[in-house]
Amino acid sequence: MGGDIKQILAMPGDGTAITVKGWVRTKRESKGVTFLEINDGSTIKNLQVVIDDDKPGVIKAPGDLTTGSSVVVSGMLIQSPGQGQAVEISADRVDVVGTAPVDGYALQKKRHSFEFLREIAHLRARTNSFGAVARVRSAMSYAIHSFFQERGFIYVHTPIITGSDCEGAGEMFQVTTLPIEKPPLINGQVDYSQDFFGKKASLTVSGQLEGETYACALKKIYTFGPTFRAENSNTSRHLAEFWMIEPEMAFCDIHGNMDVAEEFLKYIFRHILEQCPDDMEFFDSRINKGIIDNLQHIVTSEFKRITYTEAVNELVSSGMTFEFPVSWGIDLQSEHEKFLTEKVYRLPVIITDYPKAIKAFYMKVNEDNKTVRAMDILVPRLGEIVGGSERESDHDTLKARILECGLDPDDYWWYLDLRKFGTVPHSGFGLGFERLIQFVTGMQNIRDVIPYPRAVKTLEF
Ligand code: ATP
Ligand code: MN
Repeated sequence: MGGDIKQILAMPGDGTAITVKGWVRTKRESKGVTFLEINDGSTIKNLQVVIDDDKPGVIKAPGDLTTGSSVVVSGMLIQSPGQGQAVEISADRVDVVGTAPVDGYALQKKRHSFEFLREIAHLRARTNSFGAVARVRSAMSYAIHSFFQERGFIYVHTPIITGSDCEGAGEMFQVTTLPIEKPPLINGQVDYSQDFFGKKASLTVSGQLEGETYACALKKIYTFGPTFRAENSNTSRHLAEFWMIEPEMAFCDIHGNMDVAEEFLKYIFRHILEQCPDDMEFFDSRINKGIIDNLQHIVTSEFKRITYTEAVNELVSSGMTFEFPVSWGIDLQSEHEKFLTEKVYRLPVIITDYPKAIKAFYMKVNEDNKTVRAMDILVPRLGEIVGGSERESDHDTLKARILECGLDPDDYWWYLDLRKFGTVPHSGFGLGFERLIQFVTGMQNIRDVIPYPRAVKTLEF
């Protein structure tokens, strides 16, 4: 029989003949036997292979069974007399497929810093941490689709290249085929009519506006794809290329929106706790102590829901000195968000009704004409993880807001059309996939939860 190590480890050690393919993690020699630890990425756990010196000729290859070499092992799966594993393979044959010279192979047994591993991102998937992150990332992608598909949401692919240079969510990367050293000019300005699309184009910062058009026909949709922000913020929470999940729901106000977002987060956490127990145990013991308890607590608790005004009052009356002083009207900084979730409520917090001056033009304006129906979800350790809102569904109010924000209504003619024909209250949110993975795994830096991070001055591999 063949199979993945994950399956093999769940089998009884009853002498079944087994073939396993993987990479050597370690080799240890003891009196009369050689022990190999083999990993194939299907699980964080290794399979122990025992080579008996009394059986000559088992190893069919030149060179050593060094860390990193690829092997095919055949033998019997037996109960392991040793500590630490239930079963092991008693090898009859070990073929070395590819050797890995010790000299020059960076991933020897010692622990490496995440900073160093970023420099060898093509090899870091072979480590415990990055294997675990990759498996959790995959399981989470699956859970995201399950959550929405089970609830009748339609998966919509919104464009990656966009012509609206004013979505307002962040700095954009320009997409052009014009020669940037010497672009064609007209009246001293770049003549974009000669560019590929005949107008200025960029990579999208969000699929929301296009998503709304589909929600206003299919009622419940979601997007899940890459987005791009040219923000020069060298933080542990920002990437230039990241994945976003953006559900949008027609006939849904901000309360329904918060309910879905909360249910969604709990569903994902529960799924990962159930489906990735070994990886989660690794994160709990090696990366962030207590993270399993922490997630379990969140799954069984109600998120705290407060307004922006209440949040500001809480921060002001706390007597804390923040780097950015707090008063009504400021945009909450990460230090404020963390204080609220970590110190005041010790739970995820949903903050609603932000001042309209600090939020996007499309958010529904409240009756006070000062605040909008925004809702951000803040979590301990990270701060903002979800940004959402009920959208403005009144045509004239939306148009006034577009003007008020210094934007051109002509650029949004199709978006305004939604409010002319069969307008409906609708809501949605955007969730950064990598922030979600950071939160679940406890990984500190967002660059370590995506295979090949793209960030300021970072474009290797
Ligand atoms: P922040 O204030 O943290 O920069 P934002 O207000 O710019 O976030 P939104 O425009 O609301 O964020 O985007 C929705 C979600 O996308 C955020 O809640 C966050 O989870 C994620 N996100 C935003 N910018 C980035 C980024 N540069 N890298 C990774 N994830 C991001
Ligand atoms: Mn931002």
